[in-house]
Amino acid sequence: MSEKIWLSSPHMGGGEQKYIKEAFDTNWVAPLGPNVNEFENTLQTYLKGNSYVAALSSGTAAIHLALVQLGVSGGDEVLCQSFTFSASANPILYQGATPVFIDSELETWNMCPELLENAILNRLKNGKKPKAIIVVHLYGMPYNVTKIHELSLKYEIPIIEDSAEALGSEFGGEKCGAFGDFSILSFNGNKIITTSGGGALITKSKVKKEEAIFFATQAKDKAPHYEHSKIGYNYRMSNIIAGIGRGQLEVLDDRVLARRSNFKFYKKEIKNKKFTFLDEPEGSFTNRWLTCILTPSFEIREKVRLSLENENIESRPLWKPMHLQPLFKKYLNFTNGTSQKLFEVGLCLPSGSNITEKELYRIVGVLNRF
Ligand SMILES: *Cc1c(COP(=O)(O)O)cnc(C)c1O
Repeated sequence: MSEKIWLSSPHMGGGEQKYIKEAFDTNWVAPLGPNVNEFENTLQTYLKGNSYVAALSSGTAAIHLALVQLGVSGGDEVLCQSFTFSASANPILYQGATPVFIDSELETWNMCPELLENAILNRLKNGKKPKAIIVVHLYGMPYNVTKIHELSLKYEIPIIEDSAEALGSEFGGEKCGAFGDFSILSFNGNKIITTSGGGALITKSKVKKEEAIFFATQAKDKAPHYEHSKIGYNYRMSNIIAGIGRGQLEVLDDRVLARRSNFKFYKKEIKNKKFTFLDEPEGSFTNRWLTCILTPSFEIREKVRLSLENENIESRPLWKPMHLQPLFKKYLNFTNGTSQKLFEVGLCLPSGSNITEKELYRIVGVLNRF
């Protein structure tokens, strides 16, 4: 059996162990310390703009805290992109709030601005002003920032920008992760860089960042003893994990280049023109976290996936939209069929930044048999 090719596996840069060793040597083996501060500062500089970063235990925790900080609670409605990973939507339920799902546009595969406006108008007519919009740069492709943020301003509904898959992507020359009222990143094992597990919440002020850290460290009020007047969470990133993050940030630009060059390779070497790709719209720069192809039909998608599996190559269907998930299908949704179609015919190809050219040839070899 040929060696397994993974969809997207961790890729260490070399500097990580130095920072972890420093943490051990100085006994900063705690959920705070110099690695956490440096990791946050480096990310802030990287994102530019008005970004204040709080390092957390996961991207999911970051979305949850964004909802907490926006005051989302029981009975509130939150608009959420349907075409995404369930972690974008689950925190809405943690807060006892109600998701309303919005389908995608073909240009970016992300939230369709027209459907978003329809949904807002519909909810306003029903006397339910949505508390937030959760919008995603899926697979690293920026959503239509101009149009979505215009609607957010027009109707005064804040945006939670889910950049879990989009660190290194840009829209209009600015980094994804710097656009939302709150933005989130993920450093889970399969993301563009990883700390083995981790995330970040990005806010627009120092006060909001401090509030995020307050909630992430059990919401301790100022007192010599432990005093609590709010619900707290144990969501802070540890100083060990942040050491991995510091090493990973040193190689982030290389990782983006490697993923983009995977995409270019696939686009050039896959000869069957019935397999298509999503191109970058004008003004967008994607990290190409995962290269996705669209096939002519569900049946062909499955044939391709199983042929790859036979050759010990991992691939994965595109995300199944939330409005089709057993957990979420009872909630209101505004759909146009786009995400369902993408789910049926789309496939993510191995896209790790550590994939070799030989492996890429093995993969296209299978695809070119179709
Ligand atoms: C990975 C991911 C998350 C969650 O991040 P974790 O760090 O795994 O909790 C959220 N949204 C999207 C779109 C993701 O891909």
